[in-house]
Amino acid sequence: MLDKSPRPTTVPNDLAAHWMPFTANRAFKKNPRMLAGAKDMHYITVDGRKIIDAAAGMWCCNAGHGRSQIAEAIGQQAAALDYAPPFQFGIPQAFELANRIADLAPAGLDHVFFCNSGSEAADTALKMALAYHQINGQGSRTRLIGRVRGYHGVGFGGTSVGGIVNNRKLFGTLLTGVDHIPATYDREKQAFTKGEPEYGAHFAEELENLVALHGANTIAAVIVEPMAGSTGVIPAPKGYLKRLREITQKHGILLIFDEVITGFGRLGHAFAAERYGVTPDLLTFAKGVTNGAAPMGGVLVRDTIHDAFMSGPEHMVEFTHGYTYSAHPIACAAGLATLNIYRDEKLFEHAKAIEPKWADAVMSLKGLPNVLDIRTVGLTAGIDLAALPDAVGKRGYQAMEHAFHNTDLMLRIAGDTLALTPPLIINEDQIGEIVEKVGKVIKAVA
Ligand code: PMP
Repeated sequence: MLDKSPRPTTVPNDLAAHWMPFTANRAFKKNPRMLAGAKDMHYITVDGRKIIDAAAGMWCCNAGHGRSQIAEAIGQQAAALDYAPPFQFGIPQAFELANRIADLAPAGLDHVFFCNSGSEAADTALKMALAYHQINGQGSRTRLIGRVRGYHGVGFGGTSVGGIVNNRKLFGTLLTGVDHIPATYDREKQAFTKGEPEYGAHFAEELENLVALHGANTIAAVIVEPMAGSTGVIPAPKGYLKRLREITQKHGILLIFDEVITGFGRLGHAFAAERYGVTPDLLTFAKGVTNGAAPMGGVLVRDTIHDAFMSGPEHMVEFTHGYTYSAHPIACAAGLATLNIYRDEKLFEHAKAIEPKWADAVMSLKGLPNVLDIRTVGLTAGIDLAALPDAVGKRGYQAMEHAFHNTDLMLRIAGDTLALTPPLIINEDQIGEIVEKVGKVIKAVA
């Protein structure tokens, strides 16, 4: 059954009831982009067209689509044990998956707290940081610091520390006591960089100004993505994350890496922390942990933080936090099958090996109309297009529509930036195909 080609389904007559997330609903429903199947590097549309996936779904299907090992693991798990309460009861798969993830993580990040999404992972990490300081006798540390152009999901915590004005402006005061350090992007000094820009480590120093302003003993944690993904692929400048680590360590502030996108091979390593040689105190993950096939997220936790929670009376709950679907059996089964594929097919190593070819190919789009900048790191790329006059985001939107309807290409957009993040199984021919299609799209929206 699994090997049958996907069967196109018809588009329902009425699209009104489903209010789609983070979507221009009115525009979509006039001209829907409907998917019916997926295999390896491709989606199949409801009308049977094969679309090459330059987005790994939404940065999650790192092993490509339709992986039978994952589908079988999910089916078998659902039949054997569909659900188990994660509070006060355990399943072997959750412990095994936590061990496997901890083995992939930098030394010291040896504990895993499971949840169901990147948003929940961000909020879990922020709450864990606050609780840790309470337990540690430093309850005055309640301030949280994010970064401009950061994205940490849509919970109240993640929205508050997130640095995208549009995502915050509708929701009132959100969390109080939140600050943002500056984004690390400077087009004048960094344009058309492959990998980590030379310029920009000094942006980390802004943290010292916030410490001077508020006092270190009021600050709980700083959260950053090693590569800002949702705002258009902004890689950390050389030395930036090390500097953040030094400053946070000096002041007893916890450092949280949001690796929801960068985890599981996207930058050619299990985690970006390894690429940069910087170990945070907490590290959030989601997406690639199950290859997108089941919802799952989690937080990797440093030993010292975990152990601090374990010091109270043994019969008491150590961290009053968790979800009905934490460590869900189906997600755990999907996660274990996914990690087997990453290991057996050496996909992180493949991503690392093919990165230079990817970067060269994408960079060849420099010089096409309206291309203001191209950034690449790992198997990602951000291509900034000039906005149409008085219509920020419209050229990007047109590009995404044209790619899907006319070029058989799926890409993501962040305003007028095209974001490319293909599955890690990509080969050189497919890199060529994607870049050629992106070139056509850029010319079409010129
Ligand atoms: N953090 C980062 C860095 C992300 O990119 C995302 C999702 N794109 C999230 C958090 C939120 O994840 P989710 O949509 O699974 O809640």
